[in-house]
Amino acid sequence: PEITTRYEILGRVGSGSYADVYRGRRLSDSLTVALKEIHDQQSAVREIEALRSLHGAPNVIEMLEYFYDDDFEDDAVVVLEFLPSDLEAVISNVKRRGSAITPGEAKSWMLQVLSGVNACHQAGLMHRDLKPSNLLISTGGVLKVADFGQSRVLQDLSFEEATLKEANSEKDKASNQLTEADYLKELEFIREKSKFEDNTSCLDTSCTGDSKDEQLGSYTEEEPTGALTSCVGTRWYRAPELLYGSCSYGPEVDLWALGCIFAEMVSLVPLFRGVSDIDQIAKIITVLGDLNDENFSGCSNLPDFNKICYSKIENPTGLEACLPNRPIGEVNIVKRLLCYNPANRVPAIELLKDRYFIEEPLPVAIDQLTVPA
Ligand code: ADP
Repeated sequence: PEITTRYEILGRVGSGSYADVYRGRRLSDSLTVALKEIHDQQSAVREIEALRSLHGAPNVIEMLEYFYDDDFEDDAVVVLEFLPSDLEAVISNVKRRGSAITPGEAKSWMLQVLSGVNACHQAGLMHRDLKPSNLLISTGGVLKVADFGQSRVLQDLSFEEATLKEANSEKDKASNQLTEADYLKELEFIREKSKFEDNTSCLDTSCTGDSKDEQLGSYTEEEPTGALTSCVGTRWYRAPELLYGSCSYGPEVDLWALGCIFAEMVSLVPLFRGVSDIDQIAKIITVLGDLNDENFSGCSNLPDFNKICYSKIENPTGLEACLPNRPIGEVNIVKRLLCYNPANRVPAIELLKDRYFIEEPLPVAIDQLTVPA
């Protein structure tokens, strides 16, 4: 009952896959806070540990304290600073007004995202579920990375266990081979079954968190210490190595997500909108071209690589076509992040120093950014 003696709960603001979030008021000083009740033990530990180690990072959400309270069925309740908006709302608001994010605004938002992600990576954490709705924004335009329920400490990686898991899944390969015809059938089936319509984007605010997560294939899986599950993140932002089932990936998965997020911010449309994991890869290669050992050495050894074979892409559409009428500097930022080979993706710390951010038009001041009410 400690929480209710110190906070007044004002109402529910959202719910995610493993959590309910309430707006609350701290009784001692009337500060508005978010109380996040996390139902899943593993997510709770991840969120608390990550936010503890990132304390003080200006572009990471601040945790004020946390409880394990009988009133909440012994779920963890994390007290967070209250941030009323997010990047998904910014994008959909601009789109609704038939407007665009200016190059200076795009730089200003992206600098903040990069600063938050860099703080995670420098602290030895990968977030693993970066997407516009997890980038929360204050009324003053300060953007903060949030939702660390899928985050993971880098030192946890045990390559032995990961390799073992990859080797085991090799065994299933032969029996699981999918031809392109099977794939098309699967796709047809998914299209029939899901209520997904092409005009339902992740910007569609009429979807509830849950059904949207389902459409986007957001899920976490229990993972033993060591091996990494590839079932992390939300499909549209998921890196190729995850889509191919890698168990030994690194923080580069966040850099791929950043590339997708930046492209979405400047074009106002999600870049790769797969309706299944197989379709997700199809969407990616249509734009970026074939994915093979030449552009991502070792990819053919990934657990799911040979399960599906795509026909050769003769004329990839290219990223320029996805960002029509946008400055070339923006296209180049996306290109530096969306490399097939994770080792070629430019780390956040490097990208922060990119001349793009110091060239005209300069990033707009944070308090000049438009934040939807
Ligand atoms: P999950 O880990 O289950 O996905 P989230 O952290 O994404 O949960 O929270 C679910 C929803 O609650 C978010 O989409 C957001 O609308 C709201 N929310 C989360 N944290 C805050 C916060 N600090 N301030 C205001 N709203 C928040």
